[in-house]
Amino acid sequence: MKRISLLGATGSIGVQTCDVIEQHPDLFELEAYAFGTNIEVAEEWINRLRPKYVSAKNIEVLEQLKPRLTYEPLFFIGLEGLIECATAERADVVVTAVVGAVGLEPTLAAIKAGKDIALANKETLVTAGHLVMAAVKEYGVNLLPVDSEHSAIYQCLNGERREDVAKIILTASGGSFRDQTRDDLRDVTVEQALNHPNWSMGAKITIDSATMFNKGLEVIEAHWLFDIDYNDIEVVLHRESIIHSMVEFKDAAVMAQLGNPDMRGPILYALSAPKRLEIEGNKRLNLREIGTLHFSEADVERYPALRLAFDAGRAGGSMPTVLNAANEAAVERFLNGEIAFLDIERLVEAAMEAHTVIEEPTLEQILQVDQAVREQIQQGK
Ligand code: NDP
Ligand code: MG
Repeated sequence: MKRISLLGATGSIGVQTCDVIEQHPDLFELEAYAFGTNIEVAEEWINRLRPKYVSAKNIEVLEQLKPRLTYEPLFFIGLEGLIECATAERADVVVTAVVGAVGLEPTLAAIKAGKDIALANKETLVTAGHLVMAAVKEYGVNLLPVDSEHSAIYQCLNGERREDVAKIILTASGGSFRDQTRDDLRDVTVEQALNHPNWSMGAKITIDSATMFNKGLEVIEAHWLFDIDYNDIEVVLHRESIIHSMVEFKDAAVMAQLGNPDMRGPILYALSAPKRLEIEGNKRLNLREIGTLHFSEADVERYPALRLAFDAGRAGGSMPTVLNAANEAAVERFLNGEIAFLDIERLVEAAMEAHTVIEEPTLEQILQVDQAVREQIQQGK
């Protein structure tokens, strides 16, 4: 029996994780459930899976939730609550599915408590990859990717020798505006940006897919997860999202992992690896039905976010923290209708230009930079 602590439980990944847990009651048990403010979803899943720990974003949300529950778990709130859930005594693995750098401290706490990590929350690796990976090594825990591209790479690397890898090829759907030119992007609306062609996901990552910052964050995520140089990471547009990513080896052999776009696959694998378990409701891949797969150049002129992410990754130190915090704050402003779509990358680039890199930043320095950049973006024009 694997006991799971789930952070960001009411979100897109969180709910699909609950679904996967419920499908295997003999193997998985939900120990801790941390969410933000979505009481309806929380009520339903908490009563169904009866975790011992429950944490909400604040006391008001928690007080509204309490009378709706059919039993009495241990209650927590805020960042402290996320950390309590991440370190819950009996939990074996923590699924980090909160959105944004708020996941950093709970993830580090979980690792230090000896928990394995199933990582969806890519912002954590982007903002502090060196700290997270050092802690993973020091505390001897497993860090398994939930992100579909990284799950694919992880699967392609099964049984292979690290030194035989030539490069990693990340596939990108192109997001909501892949058929638009840059000129077309000037006046796109929030609603249009939220309409992803292949995946149904949370708002922030859907916007990140449209700007291509999502792929940029994934480049940095891949660098840390697989200890691979930025020169050996390539991004290719693949509109069907059937090939989830690839690894090219020294001998020019390329391994790819395929499947229909459904996050329950990678979520389940992150919890079951190296075993593979049955999954209900996941449509089997039928290549005859799909017929053709397309690939094309991920042009950095069309998608400057990709260039910015490679630049931030190569600059290293605190620069990825700046990229991530600026992007998070800018996406929030775009979603609030305060700035235009193209302002997102403009503000991120300006924040990066204004920053002097701190080499090997400490956690405290990362949190400071993160906060300062957010404030700058919130006030920026
Ligand atoms: P959602 O926006 O759907 O969900 C985010 C979750 O985090 C919600 O449960 C939300 O709670 C919770 N949350 C946010 N802020 C806080 C906080 N301060 N305290 C406690 N809980 C908080 O996001 P997704 O599920 O789409 O994405 C989650 C992560 O997974 C992201 O890092 C994303 O990049 C990554 N990812 C997602 C994929 C997807 O298919 N969705 C694919 C690959 C990676 P509430 O809603 O209750 O307020
Ligand atoms: Mg992904």
